[in-house]
Amino acid sequence: MLEGFDRASYGKISKNAKCTRCKERAYVHLPSHHANFCEVCFLYFFKRLVRKALVFFRVNPATPILVAVSGGKDSLALWDVLNELGYKTEGIHIDLGIKGFSEASREASERFALSRNLTLRVYSLKEIFGFDLPEIKKLTKRAVCSTCGALKRQFLNRLALQNGFNTIATGHNLDDEASRLLGNILRHKHQYLEKTYPFLPAVEGIMPSRIKPLYRLEAEEIRIYCQIRKIEFFQEKCPFSKGATNHMFLEALTYLERKMPGTKRDFLFGYLKSKSLPLVDRASLKACVKCGAFSYDEICSVCKLKEAISKPSSKETQYEN
Ligand code: AMP
Ligand code: ZN
Repeated sequence: MLEGFDRASYGKISKNAKCTRCKERAYVHLPSHHANFCEVCFLYFFKRLVRKALVFFRVNPATPILVAVSGGKDSLALWDVLNELGYKTEGIHIDLGIKGFSEASREASERFALSRNLTLRVYSLKEIFGFDLPEIKKLTKRAVCSTCGALKRQFLNRLALQNGFNTIATGHNLDDEASRLLGNILRHKHQYLEKTYPFLPAVEGIMPSRIKPLYRLEAEEIRIYCQIRKIEFFQEKCPFSKGATNHMFLEALTYLERKMPGTKRDFLFGYLKSKSLPLVDRASLKACVKCGAFSYDEICSVCKLKEAISKPSSKETQYEN
């Protein structure tokens, strides 16, 4: 039974509705799939879409996966379902040092790992970078969300390789990917559109492959999964992300989705179909002259940020959205 599930917000289901797959009583209605499911069949549906993504990424269950865990619903559902599918996983969490928010995120990640007897590696941004996020926010004029995103991406890549992993998975879902696509199209950000793909292959010894196994699942479907699997996630949005433009693009898509179920999926999948796998050109990567990490420039983005923090008057570069 999906106690507390706000069905009114996600397609009403009548008392007599039957599961599309097994004809037992249904508990959820998925408007964009024109389907009703009982709990058992919902889990089957959910796992099938994750497996489909992993087959597309050519990741088989023998491949160890490092799961980037924030403590939110997406990354905990991702970690849970990868284990259910028989993948060998460990989790990694970066504590950003945001008062209240980061403690709760870390606790939710640790509680989940403990409950499933899984290994979680925890790093603090302050230790690995020298500054936590509130300090970075204070010391630079850069947009804090994109700076945080770039730092997490860089450190997750580096820490994955250091810990012997060649594949890193994040909890990005269909809503995240579709709203980012909409934002980048509306603003003609062609350089970021190139990288809009749920899978980025590895560059041997330099960069692990990055996968988003939940890219076929909507946020609401992930919430239902957490409810059925009794996953206690941390709900709050990051206090630094208030007013982030991505939320507005998602609101616009949610409006369209309500009027025309399936819009988000058609928008994202139609776009991905027209694209080929983005490849990182190994020849264009150099070792950063400061820290030795791979970079497209002489100095990597982490070292550039550190420089900007130490010399706040220096010219600042913007990060990818
Ligand atoms: P966000 O950028 O908050 O939308 O998160 C997107 C994905 O990045 C999450 O689903 C996680 O997989 C990963 N992630 C976000 N924050 C952290 C964190 N503090 N530590 C590790 N992974 C994270
Ligand atoms: Zn069923």
